Amino acid sequence: MIDIQEIIKSIKKGTIIVEIQPGIFQATSAESNYIIEYDRNRCIGAASCAAIAPLTFLMDEENKAKINSGPDENSDEPNISKLKELKNTKKNINYNPNNNFDDDEVILEGAQSCPVLAIKIIDKLTGEVIFPLDELN
Ligand code: SF4
Repeated sequence: MIDIQEIIKSIKKGTIIVEIQPGIFQATSAESNYIIEYDRNRCIGAASCAAIAPLTFLMDEENKAKINSGPDENSDEPNISKLKELKNTKKNINYNPNNNFDDDEVILEGAQSCPVLAIKIIDKLTGEVIFPLDELN
């Protein structure tokens, strides 16, 4: 978990999406103060996240949300497989230096709109959960 957080915090531009457990993704952009944690297993396809924050959430072919990995990556991308090797992780990582998400307030609104709390917002610096404050577990 610490390795993944280090990878996420290490990006200087673009966006990164890491599958930390099957169906559970953490993502951030270089410009964001948040880590988005999205649980695809919980998603019921209500689509409000994608309507509010369309640069961050898309709907996939199974009508579930997915975090936007952006336009095709180009040859400038850092060597993420090497980074993974360095961090000794086999996690599924998507890094795109040419992508960006919505502004943080919009991402938070998107998370708050989810009826099943499938989207968690974490403070990137402190690791504190900003939303939801009381989890339905
Ligand atoms: S708002 Fe929640 S349930 Fe609806 S698509 Fe987004 S993540 Fe899924």
